[in-house]
Amino acid sequence: MNAFLSTPIEYMKGIGPSRAELLQKELQLFTFHDLLFHFPYRHIDRSKIYKIAELRADLPYVQVKGILSNVRTLGTKSGQRLVAELKDDSGILELVWFQGHKWIKDSLKSGMIYLAFGKPNEFNGTINMVHPNLDDPEDLSVKKYLHIMPMYNCTEKMKARGIDSKVIMKWIHAIVSDARFEISESLSPQILSTYQLPGRKASLQMVHFPTDPKSLALAEFRLKFEEFFFIQLKLLRYKVKRHQLFNGIKLETIGKNFNDFYNHFLPFELTGAQKRVLKEIRADVKQGIQMNRLVQGDVGSGKTVVALMSMLMTLDNGYQSCMMAPTEILATQHYETIRNLLKEMPVRVHLLMGSTPTREKKKIYQALEMGEVDILIGTHALIESKVNFQNLGMAIVDEQHRFGVEQRARLWQKNKFPPHVLVMTATPIPRTLAMTLYGDLDTSVIDELPKGRKPIQTLLRNDSNRLAVYGFLKNEIQKGRQIYIVYPLIEESEKLDYKNLVEGYESICKEFPEPTFQVSILHGRMKTADKEFEMNRFIRGETHIMVATTVIEVGVNVPNASVMVIESAQKFGLSQLHQLRGRVGRGADQSYCILMSDFKQSNEAKLRLKTMVETTDGFKIAEADLKLRGPGELEGTAQSGVLDLKIGDLSKDTAILGLAREAAQKVLDTDPELKKAEHEGIMRYDALYRKTAKWGRIS
Ligand code: ADP
Ligand code: MG
Repeated sequence: MNAFLSTPIEYMKGIGPSRAELLQKELQLFTFHDLLFHFPYRHIDRSKIYKIAELRADLPYVQVKGILSNVRTLGTKSGQRLVAELKDDSGILELVWFQGHKWIKDSLKSGMIYLAFGKPNEFNGTINMVHPNLDDPEDLSVKKYLHIMPMYNCTEKMKARGIDSKVIMKWIHAIVSDARFEISESLSPQILSTYQLPGRKASLQMVHFPTDPKSLALAEFRLKFEEFFFIQLKLLRYKVKRHQLFNGIKLETIGKNFNDFYNHFLPFELTGAQKRVLKEIRADVKQGIQMNRLVQGDVGSGKTVVALMSMLMTLDNGYQSCMMAPTEILATQHYETIRNLLKEMPVRVHLLMGSTPTREKKKIYQALEMGEVDILIGTHALIESKVNFQNLGMAIVDEQHRFGVEQRARLWQKNKFPPHVLVMTATPIPRTLAMTLYGDLDTSVIDELPKGRKPIQTLLRNDSNRLAVYGFLKNEIQKGRQIYIVYPLIEESEKLDYKNLVEGYESICKEFPEPTFQVSILHGRMKTADKEFEMNRFIRGETHIMVATTVIEVGVNVPNASVMVIESAQKFGLSQLHQLRGRVGRGADQSYCILMSDFKQSNEAKLRLKTMVETTDGFKIAEADLKLRGPGELEGTAQSGVLDLKIGDLSKDTAILGLAREAAQKVLDTDPELKKAEHEGIMRYDALYRKTAKWGRIS
């Protein structure tokens, strides 16, 4: 980085030491370089000035011009707001501020003409503008940008100190128009020409101060491409390195166990997707390259049997396998399912969990080391240091999003040779996120449900339908079906939720009295043994209704359950709702998901519930979730670094990400060490990038 761009921001005219400290704290801006990479979150076309009478709530950010009057503070202390009026020859617009009153009020002059920028909103039938940006139309520095103007993020604390988007714009303008501003190219000439990307310096100038929409779009494309390219380069290099470093265990044969199971004991025909994924796994492991594969399959798509058959493949080659699940309930269920499927076969399957008695644990540890266990199923207990396999060949992690990155890594270290790793997830991840979060893994997708499944019907109901809903549940129970009723359990209000759950349970018990009906309850505060007892009663069909919190969310499989009732459904996130709904629809009968919601809901909650009613496709739901919440809120993203994206947007830039990944792969194919002269820029930037980015090693 050249000396000019390394200049600390306090030396910028108008910043100084105390504002510099604030900018460091609020936005992690330390140098001119950081300011340059503080990209606008939006551009506003300032060439058009709307008439106030033209404003409608469905317009994007617009500007109007008029005389300001009637500036006043309204409301009581906590609910105070600042209100003003702007008048042009077509009408009067109300302007509202809920925050930063004092600083704004002091700076406003009644009787002056202002340009107001903002998003028109509808409130009580009239149009207003909340938190508009006000400019003096005669201000020369504003006039200069009266074409397309960049808008920069500023926090409330910054605004309180007079630092708004316009001020930041002036600073960045000072940088890019300085004669000393120089920045080297980070991509190779070949990539620039293949993808027709503008140069780096020009793109940076253009993205802050665009001359026209087309050049702006090209500049944004280039900067996003660059950002994705270096992330992908890093991930793909892990993959190359791993393949160079480790010889995987060669699992060459398909032997007796696999074949016997497939020919005699598999209780159904595999779906096409299951077969394809098994082939993909097989292609990996027979080569002697260590497999790292993510299997994505919607709830109920039949991942367990794919896991089991992979473990049998491993056993046929003389190696042990393990399968790790996030909860004891799930581990137990896998254990029982697999034991049951293998009951006629001489395969030694064991279960190891935190709650396994110490004596039993010791026996298992010993048997493992002696090679007397073929398949070990369990929870986090599998990665304790006392657990040593004789020859672990395959490690399977189910419902991985509950496992941290390091926990996965620990599975790896269990062996002289790293085992093949299969990560299974029922949380469909949009393609962009998968490429970024698991870019160093290969992916397989089970995108087909077993035959004969009827799509789950999803219904939206509220308290006024409650009696009808109960009537419906009774009817289902009479047909021999079972029912889940789930209550939210959210950390902050755990007490309240617990009360709701218990009250719910009591009213259900009244509504569904013994001995005709049997009701189970399951929640996080119960002892493991009690939980298991209740769960098992439900699995065996001894209880009709399972009242529970989201502890049942992941993985549990009771094919006879046909109705999932979700109370206060508006409180759940989309992927959680989808997971919960996935608990039913596992048998051949028509299943239902009933979303009980309050009358009052936020717009986002409405959209979530609407999405649930409209589709059962997990990938569509994941895409909707990503759009609604942004990648930061999705599980598993927090520690990954995807939040640090400066310009790329995982919910929109799928195509650019795909191209960047392709380009990175091509570079590594021809020059894995980045030694060629044409890759000099890439090499240099890659080193810089790796020093600064907060990326943890994935998998
Ligand atoms: P998940 O992918 O959610 O882990 P499971 O492996 O628990 O799904 O499978 C869900 C249900 O579907 C189980 O009852 C399982 O026995 C059944 N199943 C799996 N594959 C098939 C298939 N090919 N045909 C019919 N039923 C299947
Ligand atoms: Mg499962």
